[in-house]
Order: sequence, then structure tokens, then C-alpha cells
Amino acid sequence: MINVKNLHKKFGSLHVLQGIDVTIEKGEVVVVIGPSGSGKSTFLRCLNLLEQPTGGEIILEGINITDKNNDINKQRQKMGMVFQNFNLFPHLSIIDNITLGPVKLKNQTPEQAKENAMALLKRIGLEEKANNYPAQLSGGQKQRIAIVRALAMSPDVMLFDEPTSALDPEMVGEVLEVMKELAAEGMTMVVVTHEMGFAKEVGTRVLFMDEGKIKEEATPNEIFTNPKDDRTKEFLSKIL
Ligand code: ATP
Ligand code: MG
Repeated sequence: MINVKNLHKKFGSLHVLQGIDVTIEKGEVVVVIGPSGSGKSTFLRCLNLLEQPTGGEIILEGINITDKNNDINKQRQKMGMVFQNFNLFPHLSIIDNITLGPVKLKNQTPEQAKENAMALLKRIGLEEKANNYPAQLSGGQKQRIAIVRALAMSPDVMLFDEPTSALDPEMVGEVLEVMKELAAEGMTMVVVTHEMGFAKEVGTRVLFMDEGKIKEEATPNEIFTNPKDDRTKEFLSKIL
């Protein structure tokens, strides 16, 4: 479904991604781990072209989305992204946060979009918050809203960049629960996280990134019990 070939990204003289090659199949939950500064966020941001790669190709469902002749906005809509800090629009109510994209970009009528949004809110048990504003919600609630806001666009892939890192510990579980349900429904997901429990439970594959490269890739079971690369071993010994 996603085919990344020799992906490079430079910021000036800083060579952040140094040739990433990976294929992600439909329905996979790929967990990306690695030290701070190794390029995990940059990799995700390149995947949905929030950052323009400086080299290589990204093929999404057979379409080369790095090709300048492609409509980037159309391709980007196939990928939902959830950030560490929620990135909800503070001046919009929860329902307007969720319906904005579908109405503006997917030509849904406001009524359709609202109906879908309410169904999504119901699913995460937050329908009574529809008319509240982000500032009135807890971190865990905001992040669950951010997830359904992305889902409202009916993406084919969901990208998560440390979705639980900014949360108080007691709210991590409720967000992971929504993500686990998504995985169980067959959503293709790429997840940067330090939640190794999540990786073990729902990850189909773990990518260990270091210095802009994928140093090791394996099933969660393999990488956690028998890491091959010395850098992977060192990293895991610090976080496990
Ligand atoms: P963390 O675990 O801390 O989130 P990360 O693996 O996500 O780290 P990135 O955010 O991808 O790392 O950053 C990789 C490198 O690229 C860092 O050295 C960072 O300073 C640099 N970098 C990221 N974004 C930019 C940018 N927009 N301009 C310049 N340098 C950047
Ligand atoms: Mg990051």
C-alpha cells in the first residue's frame, strides 16, 4: 500500500533522512521507535508530504505522490495524521473541528458531515462534548477527538506521531484503546510511540530508526526478545 524508496530529507546541510526503504502493507500496524532526533517525525511528515522529501519516492496505492505532477492535496487526504499536541483548532467547537475537513475538502454537505461526526463522537463516548471547545476537554479527550477528526476524512492510512506523549499517565489508556480498536478494524497505521505494550499487542512490525536510517526491522516479538543491531539493543535496554 505504501512503498518508500530511498527516501532522503535534508534541512540545509543537516541530512535527517538518509535513505529509508520500507514497504507497508494494507492492514499493517507499523510501530516506529528510535532515539530523539533520529528522524521519526520527519519520516512521518514526509510520508504525507507535510515535508517535501529531498530525494527518493513514496508510492501510495500505486501512485507516486512525490511526483510534482500529482495533486498533493488529493493524495494527502488519503492519510490522516495525529500529533503529540492534538492540533485541534482552538476557536472551533468540537463538532466544527470534525466537520471542517469533510465539508471543505470532501464536498460533504454540513448535514452529512455533522451526522458522520456525531456517529464518530458516539463511538468514543464523547457525543455530549459536540458543542464544547477544545480548551474545555481533558488531554485524553482532545486526543480522541483528534483521532476521529482524522477518521472523518475516511483516510486509507493513519499516521500517529507520539499520540500519548503529552498526556497524563491516567489518560494514555483511553487513547491507546481507540487506536487498538482501529487496528482491529483493519486500519493501516504507522505509529511513532514509546508505548512498547501497544507495540507488542497490536504492532505487526517494529522499525528501529537511528541517524536517519532504519537500522533494524522485525516483528515486535523478535525485536524485543532478540534484537540484532547493537544500537537497537542499547536503545531497548534504556526504555524497556
Ligand atoms: P523526537 O523523538 O525527539 O521526536 P525525532 O526522531 O522525531 O525526535 P525529528 O523531529 O524527525 O526527530 O528530527 C530529526 C532531526 O531533524 C533533528 O536534528 C531536528 O532538529 C531536525 N529537524 C526537524 N525538523 C526540522 C526543520 N523543520 N528544520 C530544520 N531541522 C529540522
Ligand atoms: Mg518526533
